[in-house]
Amino acid sequence: MPIVLGGIADDFTGATDLANNLVRAGMRTVQVIGVPQDALQEGEANGLDLTEVDAVVVALKSRSCPVDQAISESLAALEWLKAQGARQLFFKYCSTFDSTPEGNIGPVADALLEALDSTQTAFVPAFPINGRSVYQGHLFVGDRLLNDSGMQHHPLNPMTDADIVRVLSRQTPHGVGLLNHATLSEGAQAAGERLATLKAQGVRHVVCDSLDERDLEVLAEALVEHALVTGGSGLAQALPAQYRRKGWLAQIDDAAVLAPAQGAAMVLSGSCSRMTLKQVAHFTQQHAAFALDPVKLNASDAHFEAALDFAREQLAAADPRPFLIYASAEPEGVKAAQASLGVKQAGELIECALASLASTLVSEGVGRLLVAGGETSGAVVSALDIRELRIGGQIDPGVPWTQAPHPASGPSRPEAMLSLTLKSGNFGGEDFFTRAFDVLDAMNPREETA
Ligand code: ADP
Repeated sequence: MPIVLGGIADDFTGATDLANNLVRAGMRTVQVIGVPQDALQEGEANGLDLTEVDAVVVALKSRSCPVDQAISESLAALEWLKAQGARQLFFKYCSTFDSTPEGNIGPVADALLEALDSTQTAFVPAFPINGRSVYQGHLFVGDRLLNDSGMQHHPLNPMTDADIVRVLSRQTPHGVGLLNHATLSEGAQAAGERLATLKAQGVRHVVCDSLDERDLEVLAEALVEHALVTGGSGLAQALPAQYRRKGWLAQIDDAAVLAPAQGAAMVLSGSCSRMTLKQVAHFTQQHAAFALDPVKLNASDAHFEAALDFAREQLAAADPRPFLIYASAEPEGVKAAQASLGVKQAGELIECALASLASTLVSEGVGRLLVAGGETSGAVVSALDIRELRIGGQIDPGVPWTQAPHPASGPSRPEAMLSLTLKSGNFGGEDFFTRAFDVLDAMNPREETA
């Protein structure tokens, strides 16, 4: 079945955020990691049901890489998504428009437009529910302009200008215009007329104001026929209603349905973000936990073996309870480990240890896995060789449960699934580690494993 929306996301957790909003708006969605080698149908052989899919989001790592690489990966994703029948392409970037003066947002949008033989696209970074809005082309985070929101200090892509028309103009040789709030408040027809006027003037790129969900609905109606739209995940929540209006998308009662979950529950945390530290503290009040120490990991294999023994002891219980293995530490602890081992080596040691624990323990009975940390999630997913994720219900904004074919399922149980949730740094409430498993149980009652 051809898909309706094809997403191209410039990072992993951004892809999940987009996929999560599509599911919430009624589209059955799959996230793929990198551009797949084969057509979508091939995935069925892996045990993941890809027969009923309305949207696919390709997760790339193209936000901060060299521009040429970002363009070639995005074009490869576009070709693959077109081959799956995508009617509309959605280029997803961060709602804080994370980019450098050279790109990669402008150059990638230009390349995609050209490949689609199209002459105009819209830029809609707003995500009102998370406090990101755009007024007169200026991006706000809560009540602060982007350049005064903390984003001006970002280590990779400091955002020092909130005027998105100006920021984008530096990233493209083509004209950049504005569809402002006054026009949006007149409705979709007025918005469409403004887009057409700009198009007639040769303006390829249109930055769109949006203050709230209503503005996003108007934009979705005005943009539904565009071959390419770009933005944060806010717009994605408004598009599916337009697809249904056009008759492209059936009414689905629950797009978040996953197979029943199976197996023991484990949390692996390599994130040291403030919210993750609170989540670790909350979880350890009630549950068994093992603290990984990078210095001890470096000194001998015994520390890794101790973590493995701890986990195996948990798994041996008659009805294993969720347990945690974490490297998460307060800033002083992180600094001390980095001083002794080096920043890169400390990080890699932990990512490697957590990834290796994940693959061993998933083959020994873990079937529900929560990973905290963006980089940590990348390491775990790649160690488990996971290429596709079916997106399920939301735990907290931006973080859904997902399912992949169970990496340890043999030919005797091809239908076995690994339930997985990947949480980046500051996402989720304080009780996220405990509540996540309750949410999964409520959504997808567990099956006894054979
Ligand atoms: P977040 O999403 O919170 O940024 P990430 O997983 O992306 O989390 O990044 C955290 C990084 O910190 C990882 O590379 C991880 O291996 C590293 N790390 C985790 N714990 C420690 C620690 N105790 N000391 C030093 N580095 C650590």
